[in-house]
Amino acid sequence: MNWATVVYSMAASASLTLALIHGFIWWRQRDAWANLLFALAAMGTAALAGCELAIIRAASTIQFAAAIRWANLAAWVIILSLAWFVRLYFRAGRTWLLWTVCALRTFSLFLNFMTGQNLNYREITGLRHGSFLGEAISVPVATVPNPWMLVGQLSIWALVVFVVDASITVWRRGDRRRAVVVGGSIAVVLALSAAQTALLVLGKIQPPGTPSLFYVVVLAAMGYELASDALRAAQLARDLRAREEELTLAAEAVSLGFWSWEFARNEFWATDQWRAMFGFATTERLDLDYFLQRLHPDDREMTRQTLVKPDPKNVRYQTQYRTLLPDGRLRWIASQGRVEFNENGKAVRLRGVSVDITHVKQMDLEVQAHRNDVAHLLRVASLGEFSSGLAHELKQPLTSILSNAQAAELFLANDTYDLGQIRDILHDIVMADRRASDVINGLRLLLKKNEFQPVALDANQLIEDVLKLMNNDLMGRGIRVATELTEDLPSIRGDRVQLQQVLINLILNASDAMCRPAAHPYILTLRSIWMEGIVQISVADTGGGIPSGAEEKIFAPYHTTKPQGLGLGLSLSRSIVQAHGGRLWAENQATGGAVFHCTIPEWKGEVDLKQP
Ligand code: ADP
Repeated sequence: MNWATVVYSMAASASLTLALIHGFIWWRQRDAWANLLFALAAMGTAALAGCELAIIRAASTIQFAAAIRWANLAAWVIILSLAWFVRLYFRAGRTWLLWTVCALRTFSLFLNFMTGQNLNYREITGLRHGSFLGEAISVPVATVPNPWMLVGQLSIWALVVFVVDASITVWRRGDRRRAVVVGGSIAVVLALSAAQTALLVLGKIQPPGTPSLFYVVVLAAMGYELASDALRAAQLARDLRAREEELTLAAEAVSLGFWSWEFARNEFWATDQWRAMFGFATTERLDLDYFLQRLHPDDREMTRQTLVKPDPKNVRYQTQYRTLLPDGRLRWIASQGRVEFNENGKAVRLRGVSVDITHVKQMDLEVQAHRNDVAHLLRVASLGEFSSGLAHELKQPLTSILSNAQAAELFLANDTYDLGQIRDILHDIVMADRRASDVINGLRLLLKKNEFQPVALDANQLIEDVLKLMNNDLMGRGIRVATELTEDLPSIRGDRVQLQQVLINLILNASDAMCRPAAHPYILTLRSIWMEGIVQISVADTGGGIPSGAEEKIFAPYHTTKPQGLGLGLSLSRSIVQAHGGRLWAENQATGGAVFHCTIPEWKGEVDLKQP
């Protein structure tokens, strides 16, 4: 075996090995088209090396010409594969140039079989012996070049232009290494092999031609880049697994479950953690109806409305619902997600996370229960403050009932009595009794321990009810009450007892502030106004006002300036108003004294789901 045989055989076997590796990669991953094209280029190179070996070992001109003819078929495979490889791998290059390369090369393959002895020689008249790497080889003599070779040459130079153009685009994108290693090596090697072939055929240089050896260099550069990509992908996969691991740990720590819902197939995918939250088995197939069945009946429709018909303008959604587990336990789940659209802008899936917030809800319930207890205690305590007024309020109708009853007795003692007068007396008794029972009912409600029960309320009526209870007490303190109530207010959404308590707190504070000798005259003003979606109630006094800068501090729990004060009235009032979706704040009036404003949203007839 001579050296030339060794070199061409090595080039062929190296190319075949690369072709096998990348062919296998493509076989396992059918969308890896760059690997398939690389495998084809490598197979073509192996075939070309075989043809070149046959050329230098040809025993006759016929064998020599045939070997060149088949070498042109191998070159066709290599050039087309390289062109499409560059296009796919770089995602760049002009399409018309690519098709020009393909057309020219295919046409030259046709010319290869149809004109002259092959694409390169019209005629080869004889062979002589030459030498290559110190060994004897066949060299053609008295040859006539085939002018159609120009088409083949053009195809290669068109490919060089195409590759350079695509490499410039990749370079500009910032991927300079890829542009130089792959683009640069392909362009240089193509140019060299085209020049060598042309010079060889024109007899300007000595045979043999070695394009296959050039292409092996290109394969090495391309293989290096593909291998680097594979290594990068492997590293990314490792990083991804690590991130997934971290995410799973974090999700487990905070009871978080991931899910997605495909609209077209109506199918849920979810993590095991999410399935466990709803009591679903890990293998169970889930669709929307099956999922909704697991929810509390009261929350199903609301959740369905939120999930279906995604609004393209509002791609995010947030909701809370209760789920009833198969063992009868109830859990609160908070979910939020985002709609995903395909490239045509069609909503395809909803992807989101859910978190178990049962313990938060339980804490809310406990806090609310405590707040109710404190509120109740404060109500009982504040009733004590205006009890003298209340006693008077009750004494009045009772005295009236007594005196009317005594008068009736006197009338009845006479034989002749006026039935009309008796009727009037009885009517007065009924009215006085009603007044007394109104007062008692008001007290009973205030003394009762109540849960939060929002209903539609008339804010003006609320103010008047509270004033009725407190009127005598206020009069006893020398306080004049003024009301500026806007008529035809919309209803507000509130709990009657809780809002009465807020007003009582504010009025008691106002009357405390006005009981200082300096503040005269004592005027308590209650106002109601309506603004976009809310009703605002204000309680103003002519007291000493709030010390400057303390407008927020007074709402802090246990902040008091009164010797017997608890400092809980305002903080409790604020939390009540906030639970109603409103605001409570204070400011000093320019004319003196403080004013407290409280806003409550309008009643919209909605069903309340936020309050447990
Ligand atoms: P308490 O009445 O038990 O002190 P509150 O929370 O109701 O508790 O009030 C906290 C403090 O806010 C009061 O001690 C007082 O200093 C101040 N304050 C409340 N209302 C007024 C008001 N109308 N004018 C001036 N200061 C007020």
